[in-house]
Amino acid sequence: MKKITIIIPAYNEEESLPHLYERLEKLMSSMEHYEFEILFVNDGSKDNTINLIKEYREKDNRISYVDFSRNFGKEIAMIAGLDYATGDCVIFMDADLQDPPELIPELVKYWEEGYDDVYAKRNSRKGETWLKKFTSKMYYRVLQHLTNVPIQQDTGDFRLLDRRCVNALRKMRESQRNSKSMFSWIGYKKKEVLYDRDPRIAGKTKWNYKKLVDLAIDGITSFTTSPLRISTYISIPTFIVLFVYFVYVIAKCIVTSTMIQAYQAIILLILFFSGVQILLFGIIGEYLGRIFNESKDRPLYLVNEYNGKKEMND
Ligand code: UDP
Ligand code: MG
Repeated sequence: MKKITIIIPAYNEEESLPHLYERLEKLMSSMEHYEFEILFVNDGSKDNTINLIKEYREKDNRISYVDFSRNFGKEIAMIAGLDYATGDCVIFMDADLQDPPELIPELVKYWEEGYDDVYAKRNSRKGETWLKKFTSKMYYRVLQHLTNVPIQQDTGDFRLLDRRCVNALRKMRESQRNSKSMFSWIGYKKKEVLYDRDPRIAGKTKWNYKKLVDLAIDGITSFTTSPLRISTYISIPTFIVLFVYFVYVIAKCIVTSTMIQAYQAIILLILFFSGVQILLFGIIGEYLGRIFNESKDRPLYLVNEYNGKKEMND
């Protein structure tokens, strides 16, 4: 029997978990030809989430959990899920039931047909503000403009991945993770499935705009180095202006055989060039920061407990 691991990152989800477990139980009993593992990654929740998970595990041995030593963020929770998953394929799902479990049989169907990466594409986004929808749309546009790797629009992390995709993703140990770009990067046979994204069942969203902007910047810089090219684009006209101005000054000096009033021009030039420099430093800093973070080579996460067993980090 093939085994399916459902990976669920959970951060302060005590209100959603009972609904989630109920829906998953129904799903699992409807798919009796498969073995299931439900792998919760408790991302340092401050509420009762971990105790609920432990309770479920006591009565249901299909439940597994990884308990982080603190909150590491969803992206890191996802790679931990991949590290601990034992299934022949994995499915990522949010704990808040925004990704309907009822879609899973369809994902699995395409997997059985030989697709390696079956991803769910949102038809609609109920319960999300127009601002979030708009910014997300613009972001995808910009990102696609900057890179040659095709990017799937309106797809979240709700997807099924074959074991070989899991192994590929596990080799990518960078610390500033952007799963969307990684899913695109690995390639393999992809299949799109449409669904309606439901509003969150209970509790509050953990996202805020700062997190989203951070994720967006990470997404762009992890995908492509083309922002670095901005510096080139800006420096070319700068040098043209410099050259033209230089010629103009020399010519004027020769023709009128006088000294020019230079202080205004100098002030303008100083302002202009320092502006350019600041911008370039900013871009370089962006990449330097990434190199800095990668070069520390720290573990991506620390686990407190795996299925009740204390993790010793040895
Ligand atoms: N999540 C997590 N760690 C975090 C923030 C969120 O593991 O630091 C989980 C959360 O429990 C949920 C999923 O990531 O299962 C998506 O989070 P949320 O629903 O808050 O985001 P949204 O759907 O609003 O984008
Ligand atoms: Mg959500």
